[in-house]
Amino acid sequence: METAQERLVAVEAEIAKACKAARRKPDNITLIAVSKTQPIEAINPLLQAGHRVFGENRVQEAQAKWPELRERYPDVELHGIGQLQSNKAEDAVALFDSIHALDRMSLVKALAKAMNKADKRVPCFVQVNIGSEEQKGGCAIEALPELLSEVRSADIPLAGLMCLPPADIEPAPFFALLAKLLQDNGLTGSEGGLSMGMSGDYPTAVMLGATHVRVGTALFGARG
Ligand SMILES: *Cc1c(COP(=O)(O)O)cnc(C)c1O
Repeated sequence: METAQERLVAVEAEIAKACKAARRKPDNITLIAVSKTQPIEAINPLLQAGHRVFGENRVQEAQAKWPELRERYPDVELHGIGQLQSNKAEDAVALFDSIHALDRMSLVKALAKAMNKADKRVPCFVQVNIGSEEQKGGCAIEALPELLSEVRSADIPLAGLMCLPPADIEPAPFFALLAKLLQDNGLTGSEGGLSMGMSGDYPTAVMLGATHVRVGTALFGARG
């Protein structure tokens, strides 16, 4: 069996390879280790191997695991990657260093209020429903310009765009579309992040411009 450290090295090597093919610098890609459903004992080896950037999709689960881990590793960077209910906005702002699923006006309001109250600004990615799937989170492509302007006027730091392409279909066209939406909306510099790519497709995402890949299974093994 592979160790967590070996899996980390392998994923980093894949990212480096994709970067080379795309003439990009690996320094410009953040590997988010998605530790949802993983117990602390499974997370420890990655921390011991020096990895510091993690992602969780549920506020409650993250609250149960990360305060303890952060005490030992204060330089951990925790990303909230899952669908977020407005009534969890305060907890999310307190807990996360970045939020990847800002996808609607009501959440813009809730997060802005929570950030003002906590006097803490958490960079947010706007999630786009890139495959126009009915059951999926993310704002509709047509609604993106308006949502972006709401985010700006609410004084929420914009980190870029995020997507979760439809399952079981080649993801490259969806990644390319997200990159195009980033460009079309003039998002550059600190606003120019692209959070896309998971265990099955992160090398493709890197070749198409991802700045943040969210990788769970390839680092931790299958979720129980
Ligand atoms: C679970 C999850 C991931 C990671 O998925 P893997 O296939 O295990 O790499 C990435 N992004 C989001 C939003 C997730 O919920």
